[in-house]
Amino acid sequence: MIKHYMEMNFGMIDLVLDAGHGGRDPGAIGPTGLQEKECNLYIAKKCEEILKKQGITVQQTRADDSYIGLSERAKIANDANSKYFISIHINSADIQTANGTEVYSLVKGGEGEKLAQRILSSMVNEINLSSRGVKFANFAVLRETNMPAILIETCFISNVNEERLLREDSFKDKVALSISKGFLDYIGISYKEDVSVTDDDSKLTPLIAPSQASKDQGKQWAKNNGGTELFISLADLYWSMYSAHGNINPTIAYAQAALETGYGKFGGSIDESFKNPTGIKSTSARDDSADSYVRFKSWKDGVSAHLDHLALYAGADGYPIENTTDPRHFAYLNGKVKYVEELSGNWSASQDYGLKLLKLINDIEGVTVVDKFEDSNIYEDSIIEEKSEEKETIKAVKDKLLTFSEEIDNLKTKYQEFSSVINDLDKMISYKDSENERLLKENGELMDKVKQYGEVIDDILNIINTRAR
Ligand SMILES: [Zn+2]
Repeated sequence: MIKHYMEMNFGMIDLVLDAGHGGRDPGAIGPTGLQEKECNLYIAKKCEEILKKQGITVQQTRADDSYIGLSERAKIANDANSKYFISIHINSADIQTANGTEVYSLVKGGEGEKLAQRILSSMVNEINLSSRGVKFANFAVLRETNMPAILIETCFISNVNEERLLREDSFKDKVALSISKGFLDYIGISYKEDVSVTDDDSKLTPLIAPSQASKDQGKQWAKNNGGTELFISLADLYWSMYSAHGNINPTIAYAQAALETGYGKFGGSIDESFKNPTGIKSTSARDDSADSYVRFKSWKDGVSAHLDHLALYAGADGYPIENTTDPRHFAYLNGKVKYVEELSGNWSASQDYGLKLLKLINDIEGVTVVDKFEDSNIYEDSIIEEKSEEKETIKAVKDKLLTFSEEIDNLKTKYQEFSSVINDLDKMISYKDSENERLLKENGELMDKVKQYGEVIDDILNIINTRAR
């Protein structure tokens, strides 16, 4: 009786989340080294954050990078008297093309299968990866838990594309949201949007809107705030390019470039030479070192990438687009952020990012233009860039030719040296030849003489012999 009372009133929680692997067990590892255990923990924590806001009580089997055995995980859920158990994993396969989402339960026909089905369809719906269906397996965490339990294989870390997605926090956020929504749907609670942000859209500042400030107001504001010459001239690009990039309000984009670069002074990991006005990172980025940031060919490319990323966020007409310099133009981001206020926690992890930006936007709109600004030649920057690239190629070819002709000269000199040596040898040989001839002749003469002397000696001997008889 007492036990029952305890369970009903104190022990019971709604859900135990189990971030797979941890500590000395990294789980699967992606082609560029991303570890499964980190992704699992991130998603599990995000699920907890989302579900708690919806009034669900949640406990984690691990809240940090520690190692926990499989049976221990099941025991935590059993001891907590949890109503449900969800284990979060990332799949891996030897076949690099393997992809998509699958969810496991212990047996066919139970509550676990229903929960798995509901969460799988919510996930496929939100994150748009292919569905591999609900599967059944005798996993320890499914077998040893006393409540309906499932194990999610989010996607394949062994797949290059899906590993790249897993590096994006915004993707993992979406995974967590889809799991949470599926769970809420299963227990019959409807998901309530975060009221703090989207309660009253009319007070928010949309990314797609006509600019309230002129280009010269942008330039005057940048100048008043100590912006670099280059940064002031970037206004020419923003105010001329926005209409071809989803009609993003150029004042917002320009203010963001100022916030990200310190009005063109940079000073963080990258400098002006990256031509990257908002610190866009490459898809293989691992940290905040300069290597993680994109180096654009021209300022036009850098500003294009910035505007395209905002237009994608805002769900502009025709977005996502095929040809963009934006390296993180992922379809799942489409329409994710429609207002400046929502950039907090999306473009930047910082929660007051949107508010900081709003202040800058207000400042630009209130500036009085007192200086006279000429159009800069920053448009030509890309042409100059291409030409200088051509020049560099020509220069490289010239350098090679020069090296070649030097080598040919060297060969000529060597050839000349050789021929004079050969000449000398020839001379020596012909001298030797004439010597030989002379010696042969001398030899012949000597032989003749020897013959003559021999005859004389013979004569003398004859005479002596004759006398002696
Ligand atoms: Zn795993």
